[in-house]
Amino acid sequence: MARGARAARHAVTIRFVVSLFARFVRLNLLLVSAIAASVTAVAQKKADLVLLNGNIVTADDRLGSVQALAARGDRILAVGTDARIRRLIGDDTKIIDLGGRTAVPGFIEGHAHFTGIGDAMQILDLSKVESWSEVVDMVAAAVQKAAPGEWIRGRGWHQEKWSKRPDGNVKGFPTHQSISAVTPDNPVALTHASGHAAFFNAKAMAIAGVNSSTPDPDGGEILKNAEGEPIGVFSETAAGIVSRHRRGQELRRTPAQRRELLRRQLELAAQECLSKGVTSFQDAGSSFAEIDLMREMAEAGELGVRLWVMIRTSNTQLEHKLGNYRMVGVGDDFLTVRALKRSIDGALGSRGAWLLEPYSDSPQSSGLETASVASVTRMAEIGLQHGFQVCVHAIGDRANREVLDIFEKVWGSRSGERVDGRSLRWRIEHAQHIHPDDIPRFGQLGVIASMQGVHCTSDAPYVIPRLGEQRAREGAYVWQDLMRSGAVVTNGTDAPVEDVDPIASFYASVTRRDRSGKPFYPAQAMSRMEALKSYTIACAYAAFEEDIKGTLTPGKLADVVVLSKDIMTVPEAEILDADVVYTIVGGKVVFEDV
Ligand SMILES: [Zn+2]
Repeated sequence: MARGARAARHAVTIRFVVSLFARFVRLNLLLVSAIAASVTAVAQKKADLVLLNGNIVTADDRLGSVQALAARGDRILAVGTDARIRRLIGDDTKIIDLGGRTAVPGFIEGHAHFTGIGDAMQILDLSKVESWSEVVDMVAAAVQKAAPGEWIRGRGWHQEKWSKRPDGNVKGFPTHQSISAVTPDNPVALTHASGHAAFFNAKAMAIAGVNSSTPDPDGGEILKNAEGEPIGVFSETAAGIVSRHRRGQELRRTPAQRRELLRRQLELAAQECLSKGVTSFQDAGSSFAEIDLMREMAEAGELGVRLWVMIRTSNTQLEHKLGNYRMVGVGDDFLTVRALKRSIDGALGSRGAWLLEPYSDSPQSSGLETASVASVTRMAEIGLQHGFQVCVHAIGDRANREVLDIFEKVWGSRSGERVDGRSLRWRIEHAQHIHPDDIPRFGQLGVIASMQGVHCTSDAPYVIPRLGEQRAREGAYVWQDLMRSGAVVTNGTDAPVEDVDPIASFYASVTRRDRSGKPFYPAQAMSRMEALKSYTIACAYAAFEEDIKGTLTPGKLADVVVLSKDIMTVPEAEILDADVVYTIVGGKVVFEDV
């Protein structure tokens, strides 16, 4: 009985186990079929956009170049041969036949000023005029569209570039009467190409109360004619006498007016970038108010270009507000704010770059410190505390050394434990001239060299005069030495200082040729693939975005640029002829010029 009962129990147990096993098998079968179904679903997922018949340079070493690319939503779905990608075409897929043209990852501008680009586009560009009378015509046309009292602004005129001297000129400079006659109700301010002088009309001078008895300020001159009347040209500090009235008027704008102006600047900057193939933009310094509007526009899907923004403000402001401003990937990866910006020195052209030894062409000067080491150190501490990247503008060798020292000191001081620079990705903006002893420190410390290819060639004519041959050769724009040290070197334009065009900076990076065609220490030039990567994946890395940007790898954002020429293989001289045919952001064509 006891045995029988045991056997029965045993049988029950066996049945139970068998049924469990069957259930297990059924469950597995279900699972297997579910997996199979989802595999088919993936295989059947059709692309929203495909690019066929192209030379698509993925910049991903594992993928190399491919014929075709498919995007679904804002991501890359697949890359490969035409045959493979064609299978992803559905009824609603947009198809672009590249006709053999080259596509590259969307360019990432590594350091420029977004609102600055928008502002520069709203004022008259006088850099290409042939004569003063052309300037007068442009101002007259602008007055027709302006409200009475509104300032007319322009920039870029240069009397030496005109085909003839203006009538009644003083030392070649134009006099105000011709413009004043057509602008009775509007003040006019036109900045000289050098940035070291400005022209004002009669209305502007009247607002500032300038007349024949106004004395020259220290460090500036009000140019006057033989009768002692101001002609309208003000050099250096003298320009401030009039321009401060314009800025005063700007400050009287209501918050709503300011916002509208800023919104317009952001829209213009985005159009300009997209027309040149820039799909992501690293903004080198915006205020909290600017970031507020950027956030609003990102959330409404209105930014156009993906922004990664450095905050530029005082340490006090940072300490008060920083806690609320760290944002990553807001508005479908259109806005990230996780970096701080400060400038520790000036520029080389104006001898503001801070050097270890005096300037070769000005032995009494070694440049200047535009922010104290103490304030940059404090900003770095704030950055470390709040998890922000720290980006410091440093051009001279002294400035670069000081910043590397600050970074090391701040990392070393945190609870006695050394921080790994590579996990922080702090950056030196420009890193133009570095002492040979400091070059390897970039790689060792993991500090990013955020450089601009085009600065090298536009500065080239005065680098040797300022630094002397040895310093220029050993330390100026040393892209190869930095990369060999293990440093990440990014690329960009510093627009509006230079045009935001990545092709011009790519050309400068691979040739190091200035306008006259002369190469500047060509041993430091980048290969074309190095230059492309400096403008894509290196910038992505420098923003902690290498998982979503910088190469045309499936899974990353579908940000792609199609060019009229293959910049990777055409003869050097033809690189500059490459035009943007399509700009694609998040799988959508946002610019085309077919
Ligand atoms: Zn800058």
